[in-house]
Formats: sequence, C-alpha cells, structure tokens
Amino acid sequence: MDDDFRCDDCGSSKFETIVHYGSYISACTTCRQGPTTSFMAVAPALTGIYRATLIDDDWRHLEQIYEGQGVGFVEAVRIAARSGSRVLIRPIADGDRRHD
Ligand SMILES: [Zn+2]
Repeated sequence: MDDDFRCDDCGSSKFETIVHYGSYISACTTCRQGPTTSFMAVAPALTGIYRATLIDDDWRHLEQIYEGQGVGFVEAVRIAARSGSRVLIRPIADGDRRHD
C-alpha cells in the first residue's frame, strides 16, 4: 500500500517501521525521519506475521523480542516501546515480500 511512498527529504523509497513509546514511525532508512502515527491506532491493521527487534539509537539490532502475529505481537511491541526502547518491526510473511 506504500508503493509510492517516498521520503520528502531525500527521495528514498526504503523505509523501516519503528515503534517508540506510543508512536508508530515509518522511518526513511537514510534520514531516519518519517511520518508518525499512533501505534495503537494502526495495531489492528497489523494482521500479518511480524518480527519485532529491539534496536539502539544507531539502528543496530540488539535483540529479537517477538515473532508472530496478533495480540501477542502487539503486546510485546507495546510493552517494549513503552519503556523507551526502539522496536523495529518487519513483516515476515512471504506475501509481503517485494522485489525492487
Ligand atoms: Zn530520507
């Protein structure tokens, strides 16, 4: 659904989804900025299978915290993000794989 989504600043079309506190951020992988919305507002739409990974300020992967779907996934992300951790979430379902 985000095929035409591009960064306002650098034009990149590569984004990662980060959850930080209550915010769901579609962050450009170059600028690390992007539109923010409420995680709890978008959580019901996250119906696929996802992997949640804690990352540090430089986006280095620290620890995978959850892999799965549904309420368990949303709760794991929400609890980690609420404590101030940055949580990177990526879909891992085959149907979401894209070819660039
Ligand atoms: Zn950018």
